[in-house]
Amino acid sequence: MKGDYKIIDHAYDVVVVGAGGAGLRATFGMAEKGLKTACVTKVFPTRSHTVAAQGGISAALGNMGEDDWRWHMYDTVKGSDWLGDQDAIEYMCREAAPAIIELEHYGVPFSRTEDGKIYQRPFGGMTTRFGEGRAQRTCAAADRTGHAILHTLYQQALAHQAEFYIEHFATDLIMDGDTCRGVLSLDLVNGTLHRFNAHLVVLATGGYGRSYFSCTSAHTCTGDGMGMALRAGLPMQDMEFVQFHPTGIYGAGCLITEGVRGEGGYLTNSKGERFMERYAPNAKDLASRDVVSRSMTVEINEGRGVGAKQDHIHLHLEHLGPEVINERLPGIAETARIFAGVDVSKEPIPVLPTVHYNMGGIPTNYRGEVVTLKDGNPDHVVPGLMAIGEAACVSVHGANRLGSNSLLDLVVFGRAAAIRAAEIVGDIGASVKSLPDGAADKALERLDRLRYADGARSTASIRDDMQQCMQRYAAVFRTGETLQQGCDRMDEVFTSFGDVRVTDRSLIWNSDLVETLELDNLLGCAVSTIRSAVNRPESRGAHAREDCPDRDDDNWMKHTLSWVDDQGKVRLDYRPVHLYTLSDDVDVVPPKARVY
Ligand SMILES: Cc1cc2nc3c(=O)[nH]c(=O)nc-3n(C[C@H](O)[C@H](O)[C@H](O)COP(=O)(O)OP(=O)(O)OC[C@H]3O[C@@H](n4cnc5c(N)ncnc54)[C@H](O)[C@@H]3O)c2cc1C
Repeated sequence: MKGDYKIIDHAYDVVVVGAGGAGLRATFGMAEKGLKTACVTKVFPTRSHTVAAQGGISAALGNMGEDDWRWHMYDTVKGSDWLGDQDAIEYMCREAAPAIIELEHYGVPFSRTEDGKIYQRPFGGMTTRFGEGRAQRTCAAADRTGHAILHTLYQQALAHQAEFYIEHFATDLIMDGDTCRGVLSLDLVNGTLHRFNAHLVVLATGGYGRSYFSCTSAHTCTGDGMGMALRAGLPMQDMEFVQFHPTGIYGAGCLITEGVRGEGGYLTNSKGERFMERYAPNAKDLASRDVVSRSMTVEINEGRGVGAKQDHIHLHLEHLGPEVINERLPGIAETARIFAGVDVSKEPIPVLPTVHYNMGGIPTNYRGEVVTLKDGNPDHVVPGLMAIGEAACVSVHGANRLGSNSLLDLVVFGRAAAIRAAEIVGDIGASVKSLPDGAADKALERLDRLRYADGARSTASIRDDMQQCMQRYAAVFRTGETLQQGCDRMDEVFTSFGDVRVTDRSLIWNSDLVETLELDNLLGCAVSTIRSAVNRPESRGAHAREDCPDRDDDNWMKHTLSWVDDQGKVRLDYRPVHLYTLSDDVDVVPPKARVY
């Protein structure tokens, strides 16, 4: 090794990596149960991407019309295009109402109805009576729900004395054979390295939207947890399913929440037509996100886009009036003014489908434990490792996530992970075993190699190649041919990382090094996404293959697993979808044809 490193050792019951909604809910849940808990986060907790969530969090509270968690479960299975695990979906939808009431008691300032109940708005794909009516199920704190939840959870974590390691970049898991024993992090402020030894590591590192050129997610959403798991020899699941949000601001990519359409906003093409009436006669502008994104793309491809280049669509909320806009959508009015120069009370917002959410991730069961396929067992639990939130694939969203189900996923499975961790640590009943000699050597060597990388290519230029490739070849519409071209191109991009150059050799606030470590993680996510996509010859949820337009339940109702080696070669295998429930209170939702 070229560098000298100061290493500081820590021992905890649990180390949570990530302080977004999922990480914070798990962190304080564990601290509350008496576990010695550390939370390691590369950005200050309240700057995590969860802060940007606008529209709301789903739960069948029935505050604004009839509702039932079984209807929510039905919608979620249908939204997942039957790729979601029904035991996990049952767990999430059943736990939703208590989870929201808990958030309310912790202090989340939800918007209110006239009679003081939590306000709920309609969202795409959310129905009553198994598809008959439209549910109002999405609980909202105006259009800043994630902000409200994240701040509340951080306060709770502080109140429960969880220990935070802030602006620490976790580089790699510390593995001992198949067991996870801890994690290595770099303190960005002073350049020291921290070796965390723990009974359990929880990856709550969020999504990998930044593998694409245009996305709604923060610059920090770089799939670090996924990269760490891949390097530990673990697979990703269902990476081909990438959600495009119909309404990113044209050019900037910033999100305009689906809540806008929930409040009555609608889309038009260059002829002024409300074209969603043609594609989804029932749900119209509130059809699920994959349907709306594809319909917009068809309109643009057929020459009915708006603007000088006819390459985007208009979203109208002028007719809603200043009262609704000011009370329910104040953040949207501000975002549209800043990023599109539009006064939403007078003119439409220019929008375009933009990468928004990763359904795929680290496979887990509904208790948050990471699972893998081992010796023919598709549900083999990886000792010492859990994953939650967008980094995980539990899989409640299957092939397509319904709006407002992610915030719910964070709090329900963050809490489930805390419950399970208390059981596991209680069963072990002893203090943490010391790490074997040289336990973190592999992680250190990788850090050292990248710190002194002396190739010809800058990190930014390789990242740009990757983002352009994914944007072009792993897009809203895909064909076997374009995906194959994308795979070939991604192989070149992956290989070019061997020639990367890091110019700053220091360890203090070295953004060049951090971005290179992040790019390494993004590349693993990108190759597994595009390889999984070319391998699946059907259309399901967000994965729309023009050359295979039908869903093929006989052959493809299964989860894709993908392992990536250090050369970027991808190996694929499968896990069955859980077509069973946890209780007799609800039936399995049988696969049906799509009706929108
Ligand atoms: C603009 C936008 C609006 C959205 N609106 C909604 C909505 O209205 N309703 C809804 O249900 N969903 C919404 N979503 C989706 C939802 O907000 C996200 O899926 C969710 O917030 C992800 O939470 P998380 O806790 O998994 O990760 P994040 O909130 O992304 O947090 C990740 C955490 O991991 C840490 N981290 C990452 N890498 C490292 C590392 N190497 N070392 C240390 N720490 C690390 C970060 O510091 C951060 O604390 C929206 C998403 C976006 C982008």
